[in-house]
Amino acid sequence: MRRLILLPIAVATATLAAQAPQPDWSAIEAETLTHFQALVKINTTDPPGGERPAVEYLKQVLEREGIPTQAFALEDHRPNLVARLKGNGRKRPVLIMGHTDTVNVDEKKWTFPPFSAARDSGYIYGRGTIDDKDNVTGALMTLLTLKRLKVPLDRDVIFLAEAGEEGASRLGVQFMAEQHFADIDAEYCFAEGGKRHARERRAEVRRDSDAREDSRDPSSSSRTDPRATPRSRSRATPWPISPPPSGRRRRGSRPSG
Ligand SMILES: [Zn+2]
Repeated sequence: MRRLILLPIAVATATLAAQAPQPDWSAIEAETLTHFQALVKINTTDPPGGERPAVEYLKQVLEREGIPTQAFALEDHRPNLVARLKGNGRKRPVLIMGHTDTVNVDEKKWTFPPFSAARDSGYIYGRGTIDDKDNVTGALMTLLTLKRLKVPLDRDVIFLAEAGEEGASRLGVQFMAEQHFADIDAEYCFAEGGKRHARERRAEVRRDSDAREDSRDPSSSSRTDPRATPRSRSRATPWPISPPPSGRRRRGSRPSG
C-alpha cells in the first residue's frame, strides 16, 4: 500500500523546508488501507454516476483533521471536492487530483464482489482500486500527513477529488476549470496521467484530464497488475523521506475482471 501514498507525498514534500518530522509509516500504511477499502466499497460507477457518498466520506475525514473542504457540483449527486493546505505563498500551489467515479462493472466476471474491497494474498480486489481510488487515497493521505506533521509548506497543496472523469468531465474537471478555476489554480498538477506544468491555465488543466493513461474501456482498469505499472512521475520526483523497512514487501491491488 505504501506505493499508493509515496508519490503524492513526495510531490508535496519536494518543495518543503527540509526539517519535516519523520512520518510513522506503519500507522500511515494501516490508515491508508482503511481509507482505500472504504472508498472502494462505495459504488461510484458511471453510468449512472453518483460520487456524493465518496465525497462525503472524504469530507468528513478531512474536516475531522481541521482541513477545510468545499464541494462544487454541477449536478447535486455528482460533486467535486476541493481541500487546501495553506503554504506561506512563496510559490504557486501544487494540485493533486484523483477521480472518485469508476467505470461500470459486470459482477459475474469477478472473483470477489467488485465493491467488497476484499483482501486476498496481498491484493485488494475491487472496481476503482487502480483507477482511481488509489490516487484519491494517496492525495487524502498526503494532506492528512502534511497537516499532522505540521510540515512547513512554501506553496499551497490542493486536493481535487474530481467527479465524472470516466465520461462526464463536463461536471468534473471541465466544470471546475470553467467555473471554479481560482479554487484549483496551481503551478503544477499531478494526476493519474502524470504531471503538467500549468503555463496556460485552463488549457493545461484540461489536458491533464485528457492525458490519462487509462482508457474508457470498462475492461481496461481491471486488467492491470500494478506491480507492472511504473508511474512516470515517481522517477522524476526527489524523495526526501526515507521509506520504511517494510517497503519491499509485495503489495498492490488487482481487480479481477
Ligand atoms: Zn482514471
